[in-house]
Amino acid sequence: MLLGEEYQSSFDNSLALELIWKIKVSLKVACFTWLVIRRACLTHEVLQRRGIQICSKCYMCRQKRETNSHLFLHCTFTAQIWSMFLNFLEVKWTMPEHTADLLSCWIRRGGSKRQKTWWNLIPHCIWWTVRKERNSRNFEDISNSIHKVKWNCIVSLYFWCKEIGLEDSDQLLEFIRILASGR
Ligand SMILES: [Zn+2]
Repeated sequence: MLLGEEYQSSFDNSLALELIWKIKVSLKVACFTWLVIRRACLTHEVLQRRGIQICSKCYMCRQKRETNSHLFLHCTFTAQIWSMFLNFLEVKWTMPEHTADLLSCWIRRGGSKRQKTWWNLIPHCIWWTVRKERNSRNFEDISNSIHKVKWNCIVSLYFWCKEIGLEDSDQLLEFIRILASGR
């Protein structure tokens, strides 16, 4: 774990770290998110910082260098998953520069407590899904379409919600219905 390379964002990192442990996700997901916001999740950026010579190209878009911020926030592939959620709730959003900043400002205004709870799961779920797809492309040479990856994300989110008794949250079900109808 690259504690010596921890990232200091413009926000107070302690807020993002505190939020991780408050969100109702499994311990393994919380630990993974912790790595993401500390910029310690293994990416080409981390390997390069370790001095490994690598010609980096993002596995998702095949265009840009793979950095933590690119893979989890700004990649054109990943951005489509963010947009899926943001468009549904008609949230105007400017993507911050770093993952810790995103978690610090991912706050749902309005809506019920249940809606806020599943909304809070979204960054964790997107990062988890993107990482899984990234590893599939890297280690197994299997690439799923953006459509399939979006569905993988939704399915994970649904089951995470189910684990905490939120699977019948009206807005979540509406969201899934809209996606299923292809609108
Ligand atoms: Zn990319």
